Amino acid sequence: MSDPILEIRHVTKQFPASGGRFLTANNDVNLFCYEGETLGVVGESGCGKSTLIRMVMQLEEPTSGQILFRDVDLASLRGRARRQARRHIQMVFQDPSDAFSPKMKIKNITMIFICHDISLVHCMSHRTAVMYLGNIVEVVPSRQLCTGLMHPYTEALKEALFSVDMDFEKPIESIESEAPSPLDVPAGCPFRDRCGRCMPVCRSERPELKEVEPGHVIACHLF
Ligand code: SF4
Repeated sequence: MSDPILEIRHVTKQFPASGGRFLTANNDVNLFCYEGETLGVVGESGCGKSTLIRMVMQLEEPTSGQILFRDVDLASLRGRARRQARRHIQMVFQDPSDAFSPKMKIKNITMIFICHDISLVHCMSHRTAVMYLGNIVEVVPSRQLCTGLMHPYTEALKEALFSVDMDFEKPIESIESEAPSPLDVPAGCPFRDRCGRCMPVCRSERPELKEVEPGHVIACHLF
């Protein structure tokens, strides 16, 4: 495969909040996207998807880290160079028929597709990145989303799906409790207070993304 066209390297975004505190919207996010690829990003409301995309669009600047487009750090661009880079990166909102001209052909497009619905992301994307509380917790080739090892949060997202052939006698699984506030991110694993498999190490050490099989990374102490 070619080199990535877009690389998000160790990007953290914090917003100042009252009382001298900071809201952490993105925490050390690492992601890349190949030319011609569709990368899905999925997670609950408030997980940091939109802030991440706003930084790719250069509507926000990272607090730290870099976003490289064709090997150039977007934050370093000014004036004409910045305007030219913006011509190549566009936002498409929920009604694409209003966003695209029916008279123009699109070829060789690279997409980051953000959505709450993991089944839709599965259908639309080559790879899926799962975000929780500002962290990437798993990146998986989408064809493997229905099989194999999964982060407990990804499993919970899958369990909460409705489908026409589901067993309606079976109780609907949902994730216990609400996600913590991004103003008060817990130490260790960000999912620890909602995870049924939480261990003592999860409360003290933040799990790093690890490759568990080719192209599949998970941030969880179980793996
Ligand atoms: S690191 Fe621990 S708390 Fe976090 S998802 Fe894995 S098992 Fe659960």
